[in-house]
Amino acid sequence: MRLRLAPVEYKTCTTAGCEMKYEGAQCPKCRQAFTPQQVVKALHDRLILVDVDPPLYEQTQRCRCTECKNLFDLSEHDVIARAQCAACGKPLFQRAQLQKIWQEAETLLQRARKLDRALRQVAACPHCAQSVTVKSWCPLHDPSTPPGPTGGLPQNLTVVWVRTFHTAESLEELQQREWLEDEPGLEPETEIETEAESERDDA
Ligand SMILES: [Zn+2]
Ligand SMILES: [Zn+2]
Ligand SMILES: [Zn+2]
Repeated sequence: MRLRLAPVEYKTCTTAGCEMKYEGAQCPKCRQAFTPQQVVKALHDRLILVDVDPPLYEQTQRCRCTECKNLFDLSEHDVIARAQCAACGKPLFQRAQLQKIWQEAETLLQRARKLDRALRQVAACPHCAQSVTVKSWCPLHDPSTPPGPTGGLPQNLTVVWVRTFHTAESLEELQQREWLEDEPGLEPETEIETEAESERDDA
């Protein structure tokens, strides 16, 4: 195992007077449940233990909203839902149109970005004539307010580390245990890596 300085995802409780930063599914202090529509997810550079079994932290990727910097997930389900009319559920584009829109899009994020741009050109559903409204992809935004030019979608995904909760032990407890098990006179094998947040732009 080793220590690594990594961008860790955390949530900030929205209960007035609490504002606790936490990593799990609910605020440990006031028990407010995490809801993506209300609670901001952000990054903190922290020292975490890696190469332990079971892992305490896992790497994943998120979208960082271009408007509010909130971290959110993009799922295939979200992209499919946006390509359909919110009123009648029928596809807003013909198959050939969609193929053209997604011609050079390889990743889900690229597809979402292209779809977002294409949706801004669609005034109404071709099936039921219901007008098409563009909303932010970031769950924190009010769906009735028009989003910014990218709908909150970034150019690239951001790598984040999230607590797995495979073990109930806290980082401090685990560190303590490992140190106690160390043989006297032996230096703990600790390697500290710094990981800069990737702001790569290859689009
Ligand atoms: Zn709280
Ligand atoms: Zn946002
Ligand atoms: Zn429709």
